[in-house]
Amino acid sequence: MVAIIYFNIFFMKKLNNTSYGYFGNGYLTTLLDKIIGHARSNSIWPLPFATSCCGIEFMATLGSHYDISRFGSERPSFSPRQADLLMVMGTIAKKMSPILRDVYIQMAEPKWVIAVGACAASGGIFDTYSVLQGIDKIIPVDVYVPGCPPRPEGIIEGLMQIQNIVKNESYRHRNSQKYQKLLSSYGIL
Ligand code: SF4
Repeated sequence: MVAIIYFNIFFMKKLNNTSYGYFGNGYLTTLLDKIIGHARSNSIWPLPFATSCCGIEFMATLGSHYDISRFGSERPSFSPRQADLLMVMGTIAKKMSPILRDVYIQMAEPKWVIAVGACAASGGIFDTYSVLQGIDKIIPVDVYVPGCPPRPEGIIEGLMQIQNIVKNESYRHRNSQKYQKLLSSYGIL
């Protein structure tokens, strides 16, 4: 009960002066979508799929100076079942592609993906037969963070973009035809 009251006060402060709902003395009416989106966007658990240099920047992002826990994401998950956000950082060899795809498939819905750095986004400088030219060849990507490597500020910006997507996503989206079509275009269902 205390948690619910605390959450309501926090939520009201956050959403005050917005068009999300009606606020009164001690009460709030709003949309279920907005409450769920707000809660989800501030408790995203990332799964770091780090293969090379960009992974080091992510480690810096976790540290006390940049402090990713300010965004509710201080708990990296190395189990796909307990992760919401797949962060792919580094060069992905074609031999590794099925593993990355399996990890994505094993994550529970709703899930989101960031391609961190040039290698994950496009293969980077490694335009060779053995390197995947962008992870969006095998799984859907929500946000691309440019750079070789991106600085921690860039990774945080990517995370904030994901928060915006999560916040504004309808909780029905994952059952929509549009989303099912996207997954089936990747052969995932
Ligand atoms: S984008 Fe640059 S820094 Fe990141 S993994 Fe590729 S080569 Fe390394």
